[in-house]
Amino acid sequence: MNPSPQPPPVPYPHAHAQPAGAAAAVLPVHSGPLECPICRAPTLSLKKHTYLAYLVFIGIFAFWSVKHTLACPPCLRKDLLWRLAFNTVLANVLWPIVILPWNGILLALSFSAGHSRGVAALAKDRSRG
Ligand SMILES: [Zn+2]
Repeated sequence: MNPSPQPPPVPYPHAHAQPAGAAAAVLPVHSGPLECPICRAPTLSLKKHTYLAYLVFIGIFAFWSVKHTLACPPCLRKDLLWRLAFNTVLANVLWPIVILPWNGILLALSFSAGHSRGVAALAKDRSRG
């Protein structure tokens, strides 16, 4: 017998095209399991982070794209590692200065327990209406 049953997974509001009112109504728990929008698995550690999708550095010119990701730790790590490898070519000399520290810190944070602060804030805003 389980003395403290976990509440059922709550679909994250951005994962589905739900009206804002309906999403707020089904998201009363901030520390309970939330559904990963990528793999649909329930997780107690949904992470919301911002990082560079790509950084292209050509001599004196650089351009980049910022990516906002909401994912469970395995999905986030998979994308961060892919971006680390992908950007070695594109970012070249900026890779160890920008990409490596940024993605490295986020990789380390992906091992922390619990939802990230951004997810808690979003869930809090949604529950207020
Ligand atoms: Zn996932």
